Amino acid sequence: MIHFDNSYARLPQGFFARIDPTPVSSPQLLALNEGLAERLGLDAGHLAGDGLGVLAGNAVPEGAEPIAQAYAGHQFGGFSPQLGDGRAVLLGEVIAPDGARFDLQLKGSGPTPFSRRGDGRAWMGPVLREYLVSEFMAAMGVPTTRALAAVSTGDLVFREQGGLPGAVLTRVAASHIRVGTFQYFAVRDDKTRLQHLTDHVIARHYPDCGDPLALLDAVVERQARTIADWMSLGFIHGVMNTDNMAISGETIDYGPCAFMDGYHPDTVFSSIDRQGRYAWAQQPQIAVWNLAQFATCLIPLMGDEETAVEAATKAVHRFAPLYQQAWLERFGAKLGIDGTAHQALVERLLTLMAVERADFTRVFDALTHGDARDEFMDRKGFDAWAAQWQALSPDRARMQRANPRRIPRNHRIEAAIASAVAGDMDPFRRLLDACTHPFDDRAEWADLAVAPTKTEAVHNTFCGT
Ligand code: AMP
Ligand code: MG
Repeated sequence: MIHFDNSYARLPQGFFARIDPTPVSSPQLLALNEGLAERLGLDAGHLAGDGLGVLAGNAVPEGAEPIAQAYAGHQFGGFSPQLGDGRAVLLGEVIAPDGARFDLQLKGSGPTPFSRRGDGRAWMGPVLREYLVSEFMAAMGVPTTRALAAVSTGDLVFREQGGLPGAVLTRVAASHIRVGTFQYFAVRDDKTRLQHLTDHVIARHYPDCGDPLALLDAVVERQARTIADWMSLGFIHGVMNTDNMAISGETIDYGPCAFMDGYHPDTVFSSIDRQGRYAWAQQPQIAVWNLAQFATCLIPLMGDEETAVEAATKAVHRFAPLYQQAWLERFGAKLGIDGTAHQALVERLLTLMAVERADFTRVFDALTHGDARDEFMDRKGFDAWAAQWQALSPDRARMQRANPRRIPRNHRIEAAIASAVAGDMDPFRRLLDACTHPFDDRAEWADLAVAPTKTEAVHNTFCGT
């Protein structure tokens, strides 16, 4: 029995469409997150056995009220008034043993009224990528949606590459409410539902906020911290559209995301991001842009328009100092120093790294556990920097808690997916195990810490939709 309490499904008409997942031919479990199941109060043994149909969308558990949520969104700057869950259904909200509420969503579960021309399905590649990356982020303490399970469907999904094995991801989130959810009602001038949504979000995620302005402030603050977390890991989300930004502050909708190998601020992976709109270094500015859209939605609820615009603008402008502070804290921790007092030193290291595209994760790992000199060709430049850094007596214990020994590197993710498609889940399991224990030092995982050679490096990712 899953303990559901579906508060979103109780919202008035217009917030969602009721739709069951579409059954698949022959579900097989690819991965199950037992630790997360336990956190949610779910019986992992049952899910892997008789309950598998639930994870595939072949059975709707008692108490679930499957819905596809409505939302709009700016995609690469262009506004779409109607997007919505086109390949996902929210089964319901699970109440964990400690009372915490979590969305349980199936992604790749078949068409919905919001599917437009899409098939509502996902193939194994993006499902396994999201599983690996989101679970690594969770292990690093980054606010994120989680992966409870991945199931192969036994059906083929047709994409540019041809027929690919289908899969369904079971995703867990604080909620799936996005900036785009607010935009959906704002663009329709539906003040009643906008107010309803705002009340729902405050009660659910920000109970200390008394009004829309306080909510805006709180969301700005959480996003500033989440984006600083991304930056400190070399993470590039890849599709920071407003429909892919969660109001809870969790990282959501892992699509063509990846972690940088060689460091350069302009790094982009997504094959559709031709202008570099969502490049690594652009992410904080884009977050501000998205938050400005959120602020615009709230203004009609904030009384006198002129005063509201002024207050909302001020709230969005708070992102920059909050982000800067969080960024300095993160990079200060990575170097075991007071980042605020030594900002120039942090920036000088990044400049040295960018010039020769030194490996982002390796440099910080080597600084933490050994000697980073070999990570640089410009030894003199590095030595000069390192002398100044060492003079500050860096706190190694703090560095060890901040710098992962390994990340889910893009070429490793691709290799794990290729093996999974060929029927071998071992590389996926090994990579997942290693990346969800990011601070553990185990000889058997040594190869996963190595940066890719020029020929191994994978520079492009695809949406896979
Ligand atoms: P994304 O930015 O990739 O998260 O998705 C943007 C929009 O496209 C969302 O409304 C998705 O539900 C929809 N979408 C993406 N892939 C599919 C698909 N295969 N079938 C139907 N809708 C899709
Ligand atoms: Mg999305």
